[in-house]
Amino acid sequence: MCLLCGSQRNKVFAHVSSFGFPLVYYQCDDCGMIYQLPQASQAADPDFYAETYRKIYQATDEPTPKDLWVQEHRASSLVKILQTVLDEPPARVLDIGASTGILLHFFQKAFDSAVIGVEPGEAYRRHAQNRGITMYAALDELLVSNPTRFDLISLIHVLEHLPDPANTLTTIRRELLQEGGVLLLEVPNFYAHDSYELAHLACYTPHSLQNILRQAGYHVFFFHRHGFPRSSLLNLYLTLMAQPLPDDVIQPAIVPDRMVRLKRRAGMSYRRVIQKLFPHRAWLPLPDERAD
Ligand SMILES: [Zn+2]
Repeated sequence: MCLLCGSQRNKVFAHVSSFGFPLVYYQCDDCGMIYQLPQASQAADPDFYAETYRKIYQATDEPTPKDLWVQEHRASSLVKILQTVLDEPPARVLDIGASTGILLHFFQKAFDSAVIGVEPGEAYRRHAQNRGITMYAALDELLVSNPTRFDLISLIHVLEHLPDPANTLTTIRRELLQEGGVLLLEVPNFYAHDSYELAHLACYTPHSLQNILRQAGYHVFFFHRHGFPRSSLLNLYLTLMAQPLPDDVIQPAIVPDRMVRLKRRAGMSYRRVIQKLFPHRAWLPLPDERAD
C-alpha cells in the first residue's frame, strides 16, 4: 500500500541491492510516491532498528567519528536556520530519531529549551542519556507518558525510515505539537541523493514531501534544498518547517508527482557531471579525509 495516499495500485520502479539485501522500490500509480512495501522489508521491523540497523550501516553499534561530525555540523546549521525563522525560542523540544542527542544538546545551548528525545538504538540512546537528556525508546512509549505538548518537534533523516509516515505525522500533530508549534524535517532528496538504502522505506522528492505534510494536516512555510554539510554543489537534502492546521481545515486533494523517473535520471546525471568537474566541492571532506 502506498505510504502517502494509501492506494494499492503500483508498479515496480527499481530493483536495487543494499548491504547485500535485494530491495524493490515501487511507484504508486495514483500519487507517484516511491516506496518499499514495509511488510516485505526487514527494515520495518522495530527490532531491526534496536540492534541491526547501526551494525549493518557502520559495522558497529557505537557512534562513529564520521557520523558524529555530520550530526554536529547539521545541528549547528539547523539551529542557525531556526534562529532566523522562529519568532521566539522554543521552550519545549522533542527530537524523534535523536541519535546521541547532539541536536537536542544544541537546542539546549542555543534556546535554553527543555528537551526530550526518542531513539530506538540502544547504544545511541545511552549516549544521549549520559548527556542528561530524557530519552524514550519509541514514540508510543512517550505518548503513553502523556507529555506536555512541544513547541518544536524535529525528525532529521527519520521520515524516510518510517513504515507509516503519514499516520506518524498526523499523530504528532494531534497529540504532541503545540498549537502554533513548528515541525522541523530533513530527508534525503531523491533527485540528488542515492536514496536507495535498506532502511529507506520511502524516497522523497520535493513534491511528495510537501504532499505528505499536507496530507497529515500541516502548512509548510519553509522549504530549502541544500547539500550541507556534505556538498556545496549537490542538493542532497530537503529541509522544511511546517505548522499544524486545525482538524477541520479541508486539505486540497493530492496532486500526483509527475515525471519522477525522468527527474531522477536528470538529477543523477547532473550529479555525475558535477562530481567529475568539481570533485572537492561536490563532496566536502569528512574528518578522516582531512589533512590535519
Ligand atoms: Zn500514492
